[in-house]
Amino acid sequence: MFEKFGEVLYGCGSYDLIEVKPRLEYIARHIKFQSKEKWCKNEFVITVSEAADEFKCECGTSEHYGMVCSHALKVMIHLKLRELPVKHVLKRWTKDATDILPPEYLRYQKDHGPLKYSSRRHNTLYLLALDVVKLGDSNVEAYALAEEKLRHVKV
Ligand SMILES: [Zn+2]
Repeated sequence: MFEKFGEVLYGCGSYDLIEVKPRLEYIARHIKFQSKEKWCKNEFVITVSEAADEFKCECGTSEHYGMVCSHALKVMIHLKLRELPVKHVLKRWTKDATDILPPEYLRYQKDHGPLKYSSRRHNTLYLLALDVVKLGDSNVEAYALAEEKLRHVKV
C-alpha cells in the first residue's frame, strides 16, 4: 500500500488545481489536458467538507479502491494537511489491520511472532494451502476450482 500511495503522490504532479470555492471546491486539471485524447477525462471536481476531513472526487477512486486519488491528495497538499484525514485511511491499510482478522488466522500475520505450530506436518499443509491460494488467484476458473476443492477438503 505504501508503494501504491507513492504512485498516487507521484500522480499529483500531473495536475494543476483550480480553486472554485476556497477550501471547499477545486478542479484538478491534467497538465497536458489539451494533448490528452478527447475520450480521456482531464478534469475532476473535488469537494471538501467544511472540517476538511472528507474529500470527494468525482473520479470515484476513493469509493472504489479505498485509496485516496491523486486529485483529492493534490487538494490535501494544497490545504497543507499534515496527514491523511482518518476517513481516508481504511483500517486494512494500517498497522492495526491485524485486529480485524478472525482470531484463528492471527498466527499467520507476519508481525505476529513465530508460529505456535511449528511441526513439519503443519508447515507442509500450510505451504500447500498457500500454493493453492496463489494458483487460485491467477484467473476466475482457477479461483472457482481452488475454492471448490478447498471446501471439499474442509468437510
Ligand atoms: Zn480523483
